[in-house]
Amino acid sequence: MSKKSKLNPKYKTLIEDIARQGYNYSDKEMKVVYKEKKKKLDEIILLLALLFTTDSKEGLLKLTSIYQKRLIKDIDNKLEIIGNELGKHEIKNVTDILTRNYQNTYYRNAFVINSGLKKPLKFNKLNKKVAAKEVNTAIDGKLYSDRILKNKLETINKLKDVIKLAIVGKSYLDVVTNDVTKVMATDSFKTHRLVESEITRIQAQAIVSLGIAMSIEMQEYSAILDKRTCSDCGSFDGNTYTIFDSTRPSIPQHSACRCMWIESITWITPSIMLFADEDFDNWLMDNEIDFDTED
Ligand SMILES: [Zn+2]
Repeated sequence: MSKKSKLNPKYKTLIEDIARQGYNYSDKEMKVVYKEKKKKLDEIILLLALLFTTDSKEGLLKLTSIYQKRLIKDIDNKLEIIGNELGKHEIKNVTDILTRNYQNTYYRNAFVINSGLKKPLKFNKLNKKVAAKEVNTAIDGKLYSDRILKNKLETINKLKDVIKLAIVGKSYLDVVTNDVTKVMATDSFKTHRLVESEITRIQAQAIVSLGIAMSIEMQEYSAILDKRTCSDCGSFDGNTYTIFDSTRPSIPQHSACRCMWIESITWITPSIMLFADEDFDNWLMDNEIDFDTED
């Protein structure tokens, strides 16, 4: 717990738990993306195995140069299709996860805050479209969808290179299989880092939007969830900033940063604060909030 924090500890913990849940939710939902990558990896490995079964001598592929060229072209095309499919699948799933997480952060914070106040603060509702638009903003001038496509392009180019070596008879089946597996593992690692940074970004953004909606002027910086808190992040911990303060640090500060904003409300009454999922669901219904409406 930060020494500098001016917030009620119970309130602070509840809000930090919302962010923690967001990362857990993302890890769970991203499994479908990694499963799809694994499926494509298996397809590529099977293709290579078949090739080696029919056309290898002493463990290396022995093909005429004409056939090599044709095969390289064929496999490059296949890999490009795989790259496109993986890119689309990843963007769609990441978009859904970020949008859901954005809405969840916004509303759960509103719920915790208002359950701890004698006079609830008004806030505007977010529909799916508005949330999706808020989610689709750039970090360092780049959208997450562009980053995903760039990563896929790099992955496919690396796969082309390692498979080409096998086709020209310079790589054994176990070696090329290992290389392909490594390339795909790097791709998954990049995806994981990217999603983590984007979750941090959109959670911070949801808090800012809610702060504006509820006319809460100050937010407190929390570095508590940052497992590898660097000295920069740690030095901001517990500081409060107004929303439009030009010296306000941006979140995320670095790749895999898990820092967050907390609405700085000092007049909250923790004894009446609610947090159970059931209470939240009832609160959503009472306030006629539906996460999934499109307009
Ligand atoms: Zn950080």
